[in-house]
Order: sequence, then C-alpha cells, then structure tokens
Amino acid sequence: MPAIRITLHGQVQGFGVRPAIAQLATRCGLDGTVRNSTIGVVIELRGELPNLERFRDSLSSALPEQADVTAIDEVDLRKPSESPPTGFRILASDRDGAGRTHMPVDSAICAACLVELTHVAESNEAIDRRFGYPLITCTRCGPRFSLIRAMPYDRSETSMDRFTPCPECAREYVDPTDRRFHSQTNACEACGPRVRLVAGDGQEVAAGAAAVAHAAKAILNGKIVGVLGVGGYQWVVDATQPAAVERLRRRKGRPTKPLAIMLADVDTVASLAVLAPAERLALSSAANPIVLLSRRPDPGPISLAHQVTGPMPSVGVMLPTTGLHHLLLNHLNGRPLVVTSGNRDGEPLRYRPQHPVAKPAGQLADGVPREGVNALNDPDAEIADCWLDHDREILRPIDDSVVRVIAGRTATIRLARGLAPLPLSLPPAWLGGHAAGRQVVAMGGHQKAAIALFDGSQAVLGPHVGDLEDESTRERYLQSLESLLELYRVRPDCWVHDAHPDYFTSRLAQQLTETSATTPQGIGTGPKLPVDRAASSLAIQHHHAHVAATMLEQGWLERTVLGVAWDGTGDGTDGTVWGGEFLIVNGKSCRRFASLLPFRLVGGDAAVRQPWRVAVALVHQALGPQVATGLKLPGIDPLAIARIVQRLERPAQDPRSIPPSADITTTSAGRLLDGFAALTLGITHSDYDAEPAMRFESIADDSVVPPYPIRLVQSQPTWRLDWTPTVRSVIDAIANRVPAAIIAARVHRALAHGIRQVIDLQPSLPVALCGGCFQNRLLTEAVVTAPECCSRAVATPGQIPTSDGGLAAGQLAIALAPDQQPD
Ligand SMILES: [Zn+2]
Ligand SMILES: [Zn+2]
Repeated sequence: MPAIRITLHGQVQGFGVRPAIAQLATRCGLDGTVRNSTIGVVIELRGELPNLERFRDSLSSALPEQADVTAIDEVDLRKPSESPPTGFRILASDRDGAGRTHMPVDSAICAACLVELTHVAESNEAIDRRFGYPLITCTRCGPRFSLIRAMPYDRSETSMDRFTPCPECAREYVDPTDRRFHSQTNACEACGPRVRLVAGDGQEVAAGAAAVAHAAKAILNGKIVGVLGVGGYQWVVDATQPAAVERLRRRKGRPTKPLAIMLADVDTVASLAVLAPAERLALSSAANPIVLLSRRPDPGPISLAHQVTGPMPSVGVMLPTTGLHHLLLNHLNGRPLVVTSGNRDGEPLRYRPQHPVAKPAGQLADGVPREGVNALNDPDAEIADCWLDHDREILRPIDDSVVRVIAGRTATIRLARGLAPLPLSLPPAWLGGHAAGRQVVAMGGHQKAAIALFDGSQAVLGPHVGDLEDESTRERYLQSLESLLELYRVRPDCWVHDAHPDYFTSRLAQQLTETSATTPQGIGTGPKLPVDRAASSLAIQHHHAHVAATMLEQGWLERTVLGVAWDGTGDGTDGTVWGGEFLIVNGKSCRRFASLLPFRLVGGDAAVRQPWRVAVALVHQALGPQVATGLKLPGIDPLAIARIVQRLERPAQDPRSIPPSADITTTSAGRLLDGFAALTLGITHSDYDAEPAMRFESIADDSVVPPYPIRLVQSQPTWRLDWTPTVRSVIDAIANRVPAAIIAARVHRALAHGIRQVIDLQPSLPVALCGGCFQNRLLTEAVVTAPECCSRAVATPGQIPTSDGGLAAGQLAIALAPDQQPD
C-alpha cells in the first residue's frame, strides 16, 4: 500500500493544524500519524492512491485559517507493507533539530468560543459548559507565544502544564470529532486557571464570574481596575467619566498622550469612527490590535470624556481580546472603556500579579516597602484600585499591538501581541550560501527597541520592548533578549547594532563581543546570555537600516533601491544628525544621494521637548535674524526668542564632542515638522515623542491640494531639499490669517512634492518610504497618490514597523547580505 510523508512549513503550530489533519485523514480513510516537529508539522499517510489524492486536494481548505503554510514537502516512503489498518493518530512532538517552525502568536477569542461563552438557550439555560468561563480557549484561539516555554508547542512546554485536565476536558482532547481535539490550552472552570478580584489591600474579594461582576461595578464607580490580559496588565477605566480618566492619567504619568479604548463590536466602533474596509478587517482580525481611526465629526451615540484623546481627532480602538474582556463589557452594557498598557509611562509592562499584601491600615504586613506599595500616605502610589487577574502565568510579557491603515495598507505602529514574533523572509539565494551555519542577533535602536534574530534558517522580529531611557525598561530588554535566544536556541556569531556609539544597545553589543572573547559565562550578574562562541559586532547606520527593513518587507533585498528615510534623529556618517535622507541602498552598500537642508537644534535634546526653538531656527534660516527675533509664540518670552537667535548667529558644534544640551545641526524631517507645527499652531512644548507633528497632521484639511513652494538644490556632495521657501509662505499665511487647517495641508503637500522631485532624479529605482514620519498618513498618501508616482514602485509601511521598532529587521538584513551582490 502506498505511503507518503508530507511536511508543512510556516506558521503551522498552535492553531489546531494537527487535529484538522487527523480529521481529514480519517475522512479520507487513511492510516498514519501527524506530529509537531521543530521544522513544522510532519504527516505520514498510508492508504489507497485515490484516498491519498483526495487528502492532497482537500489539505489547504481543511487547515485552520490562522495557519500560514509557506512550503509543503512530500516524499514517497514506499512501504510495501499490507499490515492491517491502524487508524490515524496524533503523536507526541519530535524535539530534534534546530527550532525552525514559526512561533505561534497569541490569538483573540474565536467566534465559536464567544458563542459558548455568552449564549443561552430559550429556556435561559447556558448552551455550553464553558458559559461564563472568562479564560475559554480552543485549538483556534487563545494565548500562545505569551505562555510558551519552549518549542515545539505542547502543553508540557507552556504555563498550562500545572493544570491537570478534568475528565471532560481530557475526553475532548482525545476525541477527533471535538473542536478541542489536541487543544494545548484546553481547560474549564473545573480544572483550569481561575480569575479573581483582589482589592487594593491585597484581599481577594471574589473569584470566577463574580469577580468579573465586581470589577464591572468598580469601573462604574470610577475606579481604576488592573486587568490581567493575554500578555500583561491593562489599566481599565470607564471612558465616559472625566474624573476617572484624569486620575488614571495622573497615576500613570501620562498627561496628554491619547489613551486607547475598547468597544464591544465593530458596529459600535463604526458609530464613533470612520471605518474603511481595511480598518474593519484589522479590528476584527485574530491579532486584535489597537487600530488608529479618525473620529466622526458628528457626535454619535458614544460620548467619550474629553480627557481620553485630548485635542486629537483620532482615536485608538480595539475589540475585546478574551472572554474576560467580553464578560466585563457585557456587565457594563457595552460602555466604552479606556484600556491602556499596565505600566507607568516609560516603564516596562507589568505582567506578574504583584498587588499589595493584606495589611492593617497604615502599615505593611512586614513593615518593608514592596514594589508597588512605596508610599503609604500617597493615594496615587499604586496605579490600580483593584486587580482582576488570573493564575495562568504569563511567561513572555507582550503589550497590545497598534496598527494604522496608511495608503490602503495596514501598517504596524507597534509590533506586539498577535503579530510578534514576525517571520521575516530573506531571499532564498542568501540563505543557501554565506548565511549557512550563521546565527545573528540584531539589537535594534534606542526608542521602541525590539530584537531581530536569525537562527541559521529563519529570521524573526521580536515584540516591542520600549524606550530604553529607563533602567527598568533596559532590564526588560535584557530579559527579552535572553528569552528569545533561548526560545530560538541561538548563540550568535554576530551582534548587530546601531552606529550611534552611546545607545544602550550599541554598548551592550560591544560588551557582549568583548565578553565572548574572554569569558564564556555571559555578562556580569545579569541575564545568562549565551556568549560562548567568538562573536563579532557590526554597526549599521540608522537610516540604512530603515531602508533595508522596507526592502526586506517588499522582497527587494536583491535590488538597488532609493530609500526615503525620514524620522526623528539618527547618527549620520558626516558628524551631523540625520533624519531627512534619500539613500541609494544595495545590500551592504549605502550612498547618501540627497537630504533635507540642514538646520539647527538649539539646545540639542531641549529642542525636542520645546519645538518653539525649532520654529525660531527655521524662521532665522529662511528670513534672517530680524524676523526671527520679532516672532510671537504663545507663552514664550521675547527675550528667550532673542537669546535663541543670538545662539543661531554662532556656528554649530560637532555633536560627537559636545553634551546633549549643545546646539547641533540636523536634517531631521521629524523636527522640521515639529517646527512647522510650532509656527502654525503655537505648540511650544511637546509632552511625548512627535506630539507637535501628530497634531499638525491631525488638523490638516486634506482636501486642500496646492503645495507651498519647496526647492531642490544641487550641491556637493548631496542634493538638498530647501524648505526655506515653505517657511516664508507659512509666515505670510499666518500674517494673512489663513486657517491653520489649510496651512498644515499645504505644508504636507510641499514636503510630498519635494520628495517627488528627488524621486524623479532616479527614475529607474524602486522607492522605499521609511522612518517614523511615514506613519503620517497625510504625508505618505500625498507622495504615493501623486501622478508622477503612479507608474513607480513606491513601498509604504507594512508589517514591519517603519519607525525604530523595525530597525532590528533592517540591521539583520544588512548583516546577512552578501558582501557583493549583482547590481
Ligand atoms: Zn476558540
Ligand atoms: Zn476541565
């Protein structure tokens, strides 16, 4: 009887692929086995030829939709046996070989589980035994990456291993006709993890369904509830209560940056925000990200407290992720909730239950301050008033993902739960040759840090960690690095980092390289990083890495590309700070072709927080010291403006030899936009990264098309895009009381027009728009929808974050590029 072996590669574990195959094989009358292996899912089949044919024909349609099969191998086993039928079995996993299967990602509750969770029959009786069980999951949904200890994905290698299934759950697990057949997270109220509500004094108030009901009541009463989601805590408050939102902002240390909300379903979202088809898809996808949407101008049925988004007309919305979120919203009749990352701004996400221990009033149980209970008399010392948590341990903390639809494509703003780790596809020609046997880790940048790695056969981009300003976030970065290396069994021969020598990640790469040459035991007393082979380090220029990330995303790594890398700031190769670059990139080679006209950041980092300083510098450069001195900016002392102008009259310093407070020269597009925002809107201070630029984009009237003038100038060694005519037009428009919405639109169009002029100088090259500035929808769409661009290949942001969150992917691609490749 014929026998074959089929191997499925790709994202094939964690979504019920094996059970689906077992069911199909049984239907087709085939004997055999299926097992997870580190290279994928391996199927062995024995049966009559027509039955095998039927299996092949139905295979792809029988697989769960979350499965992403990238390749299928088939070999003939030619077993001539006529042994009696043995049926079809799911075998224990095979652990040999390097981890080469894609990591399963966390998935939001599926439609079938939602029905079981919430539906009652006409008799008012629950239709399923998991009715009201907040942690319901199945083969197709539930946490995966966040609870996996090691691959392949099996219950024994997850944090579910401590829960012994009850007889009913055990029966489902072995019944091929059950939809929880071989569900590794299978559990119920009787045997699984349990939800509880813990009060601010550390006492458990309620458990199970009652805990959810109590938490809902607390939210209605204006309390802040710490809800343990899939990858960590979320702070939850009623989004319609101004005082509650205000209190959350104060405690979280986030004065103005918009907060995300959770709404019950897509129809409710549509009553609040304008929804394009791609936005609908993103909202209801299994990844369940926060989707950035434009609010409807008319006040609909949902009235959010003004404090949720402040002056921004956009809003970040997500649908309920788990049964727990659904039940909470049901108790609140679908009332909108603020659901934001469970941390203090700047600190890493909290993910371990760590509420105050029970204590008599005014004193801790043991008199020793604990984390989270640091000041007894400060009512704001702890962020949450009570905690809705569970005992399904989170092994890999992961934040909520954020996406935005830009130029018709879903662009990842924050790569996290449901999207990470993201498999990266390197050109097949690269993998066979010089990359064989290599293992490489790319460290990312400083803001929005994330790690990418190559394990010898596959490359992935790990989840968002955070900004590495804060010591606790640096610790989380080290923890994340260690756990990814362990999960993928990587011992790198090269640590790739940003060319900025002072980034935490650059210093760490250097330290790890030096350590590997001398001591085999990792660094210091910190995490146990595997550095037991001689490793090198490799520095990659910031914007080169941005362009390479986009090339990787587009499948352009073997081509020569014109990259438009516009962002905040990155270390240039000429002693200045770059950020408005046009680079010609081919693998490891990168040439600066053009840039924005440089300008001065007076006070260095201070100019980031005080964009009015940039406004003065732009006007000084465009119209001279007299006009700049006469500028009127709300709340800014004219003397302060005069002092900035005096400093602008002196030459700039080399940023490498000076403190961060000194004046530096930059081509940063992000800072340029900040300056225009400060001039036009009178935004003098910035509370968070890119705030002025985001507000500037948000107020623009995008129906206004004609750009202000901008000029392309030939100079040595690079072309310069001269924005001084644009500044002059803005000053005129302000004097003539032109509405800010029109000025903002025409400035965006001017910058887009300038980009197109540069692109036209290189008509044969595909164009990669990258860097944080292209998260600006207005700017990106103004570039791609221009008639000159319609015939060009222009890549816009996609799955790999175009901000520094995707930097590691680009660093990895450059490190693995052949030294020479055909042009
Ligand atoms: Zn499900
Ligand atoms: Zn059970």
